[in-house]
Order: sequence, then structure tokens, then C-alpha cells
Amino acid sequence: ARVLLTGGSGFIAAYLLDQLLEKGYSIVTTVRSSEKGEKILKEHAKYGKDKLDYVIVEDIAAENAFDTAVKSDPPFEAVFHTASPFHYDVTDVQKELLDPAIKGTTGILKSVKAYAPTVKRIVITSSFASLIDRSKGAWPEHTYSEADWCPLTLEEALSNPTPGYTASKTFAEKAAWAFLENEKPNFDIVTINPPAVLGPVAPWMNSLAATNTSNQRILNFIQGQAKDEIPYSGVFFWVDVRDVATAHVQALEVAEAGKKPGRFFTTAGHFSNKEIVEVIRKNFPEYKDQLPAPEAKGQGDYPAEGIYQYDNSRVREILGVKFRSLEESVVDTVKSLKAVGA
Ligand code: NDP
Repeated sequence: ARVLLTGGSGFIAAYLLDQLLEKGYSIVTTVRSSEKGEKILKEHAKYGKDKLDYVIVEDIAAENAFDTAVKSDPPFEAVFHTASPFHYDVTDVQKELLDPAIKGTTGILKSVKAYAPTVKRIVITSSFASLIDRSKGAWPEHTYSEADWCPLTLEEALSNPTPGYTASKTFAEKAAWAFLENEKPNFDIVTINPPAVLGPVAPWMNSLAATNTSNQRILNFIQGQAKDEIPYSGVFFWVDVRDVATAHVQALEVAEAGKKPGRFFTTAGHFSNKEIVEVIRKNFPEYKDQLPAPEAKGQGDYPAEGIYQYDNSRVREILGVKFRSLEESVVDTVKSLKAVGA
């Protein structure tokens, strides 16, 4: 089948692209520049243009940004929408986070509805951000699942890039479900909602400075930036990038995935920064002087009162995803960072 993948230059998209190519899909991916597109083609040179090609969509927030990209011969049967800003280095939350997340999502849906009637399913990379209620803190008595929705308001979103990012994913996903309800298009929607995504950096990443946001914590540890204090883990759920990619592929291939609620809380389970440090210490003695000492203080451990629980049964049972262990994921991530010079 032929599919469109938005944001092909991204961390998660890199693995999704590989898994789709291995399964024989024919893919067009959107990127922001021909330089990024050519890099992806070069990395996958064994596949012809009929199997992998790119189109440029410079800014997903622009009006009608995807009108050209969704037209294809042969036509697309499905779309994976992964492109969305994930970084905290922003000065204008509305312009840099909310607009591309929300307008990018509604934009692809509108363009598909208008110009790609053969598309039957759109798989959207949403996030645990759309589930979490940070005001509840550690919330040990709660079990997070697809029934949860992040309650952030626009005002809170605009106050700071951290709630800004969380809200960007929440508002974008809400907009997608509202579109489905109001527009009754020819396609259904499935969302993949992962928490902190760890795992080896994309093979074609060529600078440590380009390390994606969710792997930054691991890079910081091996570079000695947390020696005195293990920083707050922020969120205590994680998943490996390769398992996130598999969840996306399954979200397209399993017909039942499109049934309500259509969301998949894609987590392998709990983690803490302290556990990550211990995995690195055990497996990479060469970094022992960079790592926080075993007795280092900080909020990198689970809160004393306990922590929220999770229910990942939908992703295991409906999508059939099996999850890698934290140790395997962290070891592979550190190896990949070493390979690019860490
Ligand atoms: P990356 O930053 O590696 O990927 C983001 C992708 O979106 C890149 O391809 C980027 O293009 C593209 N993009 C961002 N803003 C724009 C824009 N305005 N116009 C066009 N393209 C844009 O991060 P991830 O791979 O981690 O993220 C992919 C998706 O997964 C996102 O939707 C993110 O919210 C979601 N996610 C990620 C989690 C994680 O922990 N990593 C957890 C939960 C969800 P470019 O390379 O040119 O900047």
C-alpha cells in the first residue's frame, strides 16, 4: 500500500519509515527542506523512488500546507501524521508550539478530505501529554489510561513552554477527534499516545547537538551534566522508539484499532532518572566519572508517596505490541550516542 508520512526527519519517524519500508509499503514523506529529503533517500538508497520519495512542506502551520502533498499517483491509502514541534526552546508558545501542532493536524485532515478520497485511515502521533493531569502530581491512587484527558487551558498553555508543549498535543488531538465527529470524512483516526520515548538516535543523525528532546536526559548523564544532583524525572512513564514505531504500523494494519476510543496509551511502564543512571553505571564503566554518584540527591527517584499507575492493555491486546525493557533501551541509546561522539 502507498502511505504518506509527515515529518520524515524526526526521531520516531525514522523508525516508522524503516519498519514500513521493510514491510513493503510505498512511502512519500514530507520534510522541511530538500537537504533533509535527500539525506533520507541516501540513507535508504536500496529502495527506488517508487518505494520512497519526499515532498517539501516547509511549515505545517501554513494554510493549505498539505494540499499538494496528499495528492499522489498511485493514490494514498493511509497517512501517518508525526510532524509536530517537540522542544522547549521557544519564545512564542502560540506561534512555535500551538499553531504547528493544531493547524498541522487539522490541516492534514482537511487536505485529505478534500483531495485524497482513497485514504481510509489517519494515524496521528499524539502523546501521553494529552492524558496527563500534572496538577495531580504523583497521584498514586490513579491509573492512567485512554480514558484520561489533560485539563490544561489555553491561558495555562501560553504561560510557559512546558505546559505549552503539553497543551499543543492535547489541543491537536482534541481537534482531530472533533474533525472526525463534525466532518464525517471517508477515513477513521487512530492516535498513538506515548510518554517519554527513549531509544537509539536515528542512524543518520550526525551531530550530538541534534539529539532529540526525549533522549537529551541520557546525553546529559553521560556528559556529566547531572553529577551532583539527579534531576526530576518529569514524567515516570517511558517507551522505546522501536516499539512506538511498531504501534504505528499496527495501528494501520489492525482494522479494529479504529474503533472508539481509537487512542492507544503506548507505554512500556515506569522509569525514573535514577534507574537510567544505574543502567548506564552497570553497562558502561567508561562513564563512571560523569555519572551522578549512587548516593547523589535530587528528585530523580520515584516520589516517596508512590506514583501513578498505568493500563497499557489496549496497546498490548489490540495492537499486539510487546515492549522492550528499560535496560535494553538505555543500553542501545548510549551506544548510539557514543557512535556519534558522546
Ligand atoms: P522530532 O523533533 O525528532 O520530530 C519532530 C518532527 O516534526 C520533525 O520531522 C520536524 O521537522 C517536524 N516539525 C516540527 N515542527 C514543524 C513545522 N512547523 N513544520 C514542519 N515540520 C515540523 O521529535 P519526535 O520524533 O520525538 O516527535 C515526533 C512526534 O512524536 C511529535 O508529534 C511529538 O509530539 C510526538 N511525541 C514524542 C515523544 C517523545 O518523547 N519523543 C513523546 C510523545 C509524543 P524538522 O526535523 O525539520 O525540525
